Amino acid sequence: MTFDRRNACPSLAVPMRTGDGFLARLPPLAEALTPSQLMAIAVAARTHGNGHVEISKRGNVQIRGLASADASGPSADLAEAGLMLSEGMPISSDPLASLYADAPDPAPVIAALHAALAESGMAARIAPKVALVLDLGGPTAPAGVAADLRLAYRADGVHLGLGGTHESALWIGTIAREDVVAAVLAVLSALSEHGTAARFAGSGALRDVSAILAAVPMLKPVGAPAAPASRPPVGPIDGLAQPAAGIAFPFGQAEAEALTELAETALEAGVTAFAPAPERALLFAGPATAVIATQAHAASLGFITEADDPRRFLSACIGSAGCASGHFPARALAAASAPALAPLLDGSIEIHFAGCGKGCAHPDPAAFTLSGIDKGAALVLDGRARDEAIGFASPEKLVEGLRRLGAARAERETARAAIARIGRAGIVSATIKEGSTGHGGEPGSSDGERLSA
Ligand code: SF4
Repeated sequence: MTFDRRNACPSLAVPMRTGDGFLARLPPLAEALTPSQLMAIAVAARTHGNGHVEISKRGNVQIRGLASADASGPSADLAEAGLMLSEGMPISSDPLASLYADAPDPAPVIAALHAALAESGMAARIAPKVALVLDLGGPTAPAGVAADLRLAYRADGVHLGLGGTHESALWIGTIAREDVVAAVLAVLSALSEHGTAARFAGSGALRDVSAILAAVPMLKPVGAPAAPASRPPVGPIDGLAQPAAGIAFPFGQAEAEALTELAETALEAGVTAFAPAPERALLFAGPATAVIATQAHAASLGFITEADDPRRFLSACIGSAGCASGHFPARALAAASAPALAPLLDGSIEIHFAGCGKGCAHPDPAAFTLSGIDKGAALVLDGRARDEAIGFASPEKLVEGLRRLGAARAERETARAAIARIGRAGIVSATIKEGSTGHGGEPGSSDGERLSA
């Protein structure tokens, strides 16, 4: 059986070519990492890549800058360190679930699903990006991670949800825990009847699910499951069997040396578990003294340790500082601009600095995107880096305009409400009034010619 990798996400088996070499994405982890295993990831990133380790928005670990598409070196090193790296359909769960009261261990469930999916040859029959989420109901469950199929373990059974996040999924009923593997195979098999591009998630998502319901006769129709408690990914985590906290990687990226130093401190202090998590976060648990010491050292190394850090709401790729396609040093400018943009970065909106129209750092729409072009940057409102721009200017001038917008935010007004009040014409006036406006083309093209300055 051949797994069709067209349009698939990058993986450890099949890294993706990027502007700074090949990117290898580890599969979602089913078990927590020890501090030594976190160190092994950092060492592998330095040995085989350019030393940059990332945690993605979905909580996956990525190693950047591999010299070739052959990732057998880091694979072997990580396997030797004891990481369980199962290729196949991505199944995101919660590696800290062992610290919940009464939750099943996700690792054997995920192993059973992968074995059954492989045996059925399902990968060849469904879209390469079909993904599953296992939600064990605790405070670190990946409720905000979108997936084609969600399995939410609750006291009244395992709820099946189709598409979206916990909030937006279509919840179709519950099954018994012993029926999980059979139900997943049945649902995916029914999905495959709609062709190899069919999804429950995304813009072309399947809406008629009557055949899906018929395929799972053991389904009991009930209401949606309770949502896991909502909490910011950064800061103390309550409700686990051990003290725990989360930090985040600025712009999703850490240097191998900083990560190694963090892992060494954690090991010495007594941290027992690390878990990469959604929103580019890294969670850890252990005795209270160990958690506090690790948080403090993380802050000194430049990691995000406060929930209101404005960098949490900025996305940026390396840009021209490390990518051949970049038109400006996106990450360096975003980092330098974070204090000035803090009034806009209250968590109600996101701002994306993209070195070019590919927009690698934030594939989803953002309230503002500065998208690099030949002689400056395009400003996109509520869109992606490649979407229609409202005008063009130098990236620095656009930052100054955004700062002006932030300064216009009224007391007790969110940034989103302020932007809505100011409106498109006011935004154009504040940010690009001296540049050209109304362009409908591709920001990645040579539109910098239109700049007046
Ligand atoms: S968005 Fe463009 S500049 Fe940034 S990493 Fe992707 S390809 Fe490179």
